[in-house]
Amino acid sequence: MDLRRKEQLENKVYAGERLSFADGVDLYETDDMAWLGRLAHHVRTEKNGDKVVFNVNRHLNLTNVCTASCAYCSFQRKPGEKDAYTMRIEEAVRLASAMAPEGLTELHIVNGLHPTLPWRYYPKVLRELKAALPTVALKAFTATEIHWFEEISGLSADAILDELMDAGLESLTGGGAEIFDWEIRSQIVDHKTHWEDWSRIHRLAHSKGLRTPSTMLYGHIEQPRHRVDHVIRLRELQDETGGFAVFIPLRFQHDAAGDPRNRLMNQPMATGVEALKTFAVSRLLFDNVDHIKCFWVMHGLTLAQLTLNHGADDLDGSVVEYKITHDADHFGTPDKMGREDLLELIRDAGFVPVERDTQYRVIREFDGPDAARRDTPQSMVV
Ligand code: SF4
Repeated sequence: MDLRRKEQLENKVYAGERLSFADGVDLYETDDMAWLGRLAHHVRTEKNGDKVVFNVNRHLNLTNVCTASCAYCSFQRKPGEKDAYTMRIEEAVRLASAMAPEGLTELHIVNGLHPTLPWRYYPKVLRELKAALPTVALKAFTATEIHWFEEISGLSADAILDELMDAGLESLTGGGAEIFDWEIRSQIVDHKTHWEDWSRIHRLAHSKGLRTPSTMLYGHIEQPRHRVDHVIRLRELQDETGGFAVFIPLRFQHDAAGDPRNRLMNQPMATGVEALKTFAVSRLLFDNVDHIKCFWVMHGLTLAQLTLNHGADDLDGSVVEYKITHDADHFGTPDKMGREDLLELIRDAGFVPVERDTQYRVIREFDGPDAARRDTPQSMVV
């Protein structure tokens, strides 16, 4: 990128002007990471200061049985396969309750599209989880699952959301977005929920007062222009509803174990630089969302720390047993991080940790970096 173009983009960012599709594509072309990181860090700091929010959550996957066969997914199992499972409701309650002593504030529930499990199972699970853990927020189901519930129940998404909210639903999850552009989506997504239905369901959820996350699966067969298009679609929907609480770039995990279900298993994963670019450009483009989250399970802990200097201000979370992509992970990331581990990770990156709830309300602000812990400053100036 020539100096004049860099100056143009920099002026736009510092003036708080909205970036265009062409701006986003050009930003991906720069190899000046210090410059790009500085721009993203400027916006991140304007919005969120030196805070990094996190929450104490647990992921629950009620079933891995799925009618679809998405090309990037190592989690899906077909009915009757050896390690296919569907949890009894008591089992889900037992697993969730086991983490209550650790100060759990959120359950994150995502599942396969089970072909025969009846619709009534899902609100029943929520009701029983809520009865057992009344103070824990239930963030459950992707837009893809809500669309699936329409198909298996014959009900509208409107009626489905009403019943789930009555059973305790506080937020949808952000999954199923992957990459909206059809050229890419048609090659990797095997279920029937595409931009039209994904956006219809999130719009509906927002109209009912639910705030939802938004996501993007990057680093597989898409090009930067597809990522820019994806973020701009979400930004336009956010202009309309204001209902997205956060944007979460999710890094595609190739499958080191060679699981043939993951048909992209030989696809190299996005490098660390590509990951940082994706966070930085997303922060700069998605100007009307408050938070950019790094899901450390998909990035590893050290890269997760660096994303905090490239636009991210939210670190998820004290995850336990994350399966959807962790089944494919070969980076040796732990499958659980407790509150103390997260505090250490955030402080060592030079930020002030803040525990939040599902609605992004502050539960507690902690002390910032501990000068006595390290002689060398760990914060990065870009
Ligand atoms: S990503 Fe979701 S819908 Fe697609 S195969 Fe995996 S579990 Fe099924």
